[in-house]
Amino acid sequence: MTDTIVAAATPAGRGGIAIVRVSGPAAPQIGVELLGQLPAPRYATGAKFRDGSGAAIDDGLALYFPAPHSYTGEHVLELHGHGGPVLVEALIRRLLELGARRAAPGEFTQRAYLNGKLDLAQAEAVADLIDAASDAAARAALRSLAGEFSDRVHALSQTLGELRAHVEAAIDFADDDIDVLSDDSLRARLASAATQLAALRSAGRQGRLLTEGMTVVIAGRPNAGKSSLLNRLAGHEAAIVSATPGTTRDLLRERILLDGLPLHVLDTAGLRSAGDDIEAEGIRRARAAMAAADRILFVIDAAADPHAAAYLDERARLPASVPVTLVFNKIDLAGSDGARSASGAGGAGGDRADGVAVIRLSALTGAGFDSLASHLKSCIGFEAGATDALSARGRHLEALTRVDAHLEQAARQLAARHAPELVAEDLRRAQLELGEIVGSESSDELLGRIFSRFCIGK
Ligand code: GDP
Repeated sequence: MTDTIVAAATPAGRGGIAIVRVSGPAAPQIGVELLGQLPAPRYATGAKFRDGSGAAIDDGLALYFPAPHSYTGEHVLELHGHGGPVLVEALIRRLLELGARRAAPGEFTQRAYLNGKLDLAQAEAVADLIDAASDAAARAALRSLAGEFSDRVHALSQTLGELRAHVEAAIDFADDDIDVLSDDSLRARLASAATQLAALRSAGRQGRLLTEGMTVVIAGRPNAGKSSLLNRLAGHEAAIVSATPGTTRDLLRERILLDGLPLHVLDTAGLRSAGDDIEAEGIRRARAAMAAADRILFVIDAAADPHAAAYLDERARLPASVPVTLVFNKIDLAGSDGARSASGAGGAGGDRADGVAVIRLSALTGAGFDSLASHLKSCIGFEAGATDALSARGRHLEALTRVDAHLEQAARQLAARHAPELVAEDLRRAQLELGEIVGSESSDELLGRIFSRFCIGK
């Protein structure tokens, strides 16, 4: 039998009101003991919350939601008291005394999932909604929470199920004269499922960008203007800007919203041979951050180094898998011609043949920052204002990528008129992947990983 859990549903700290939530089979009994009597279902009722001796801990509102009509699907008691941390803790201690235990992170939502109130993708959207850092991210999360993402996953799974039934029927009736693999309508339906999938992946990718954003590392020689670039991007003095090389010894992190795209910017220690141990550690961290980034912004002092020698020197040591944008800074000094003449490292603007993009700007005057912003958005595929974004996790998108591979494989089998059994198997695997997204096929280990990242009380 499940036990009864308790946690504050509102954030820690002082506030007008704090809400403590109890969920589980013992909630009604706990309510009676705490309040004297259970409030009428779903009616906000004024009550004193009493300790074991009958003295009032607090005076507030109580709400009772009998199972299954509650967030978790269990009996839920909500206690709205005054928002002081000491009061909240005293109330929770009393509820523990009455038989509840403290909830683990995400446990309320996990119970909602286990009781069929939400599927897994919706439960994850709850966390995304709470963490949303922009209006657009909140809208995408709300749409996923309302079930739009899950509905589309289900619709796709249903389409694949019908196709599979069709193929399997043909296998069963192999003696009959049905040549399923040359069936044009099957091919067309498979193609339309692939189109459905592509639209879903694109909506999910936009949603994921809204929540997770893009990580860029600012690298380059000391004094190239890395800190100035970060400050200009962040719009305030986040990094210490100084004319002495080697001032930025640690990584500075800034989170900036570029038209709704969260940009995580890391400013690294100047890349040069280490002067001392602390600086050496800074350089080690810079390299680790670069390897994990979506893009490296390699800053060049366009006035002092118009041919980007610093980049050419460093290029071999940069992680090969991370794309680079060369940022020619200080064009106010160099003049735009200075940077343009940097033919050795692609000063002509736009993308070079080897994939290195070039942007010219001035961290001092702000010139060129619009181009930098649109460059960053376009290279990660972010569409500002996309209205069909659905909040999605990395694990969802990875599953959709595998679904895509299975559908491609099925289409190939179909085209080559190989065994129908193999087509059916690809469709089955694609369906299993879709099931993992919404949680109809999920392991305990996966659930543990998902819900442990929630906050306590949710
Ligand atoms: P970092 O060592 O790469 O982080 O470089 P800083 O951001 O500390 O900048 C080094 C020096 O260059 C400072 O004196 C800045 O004021 C100056 N600087 C940075 N960007 C520009 C720019 O666009 N134009 C000019 N004229 N000076 C700049």
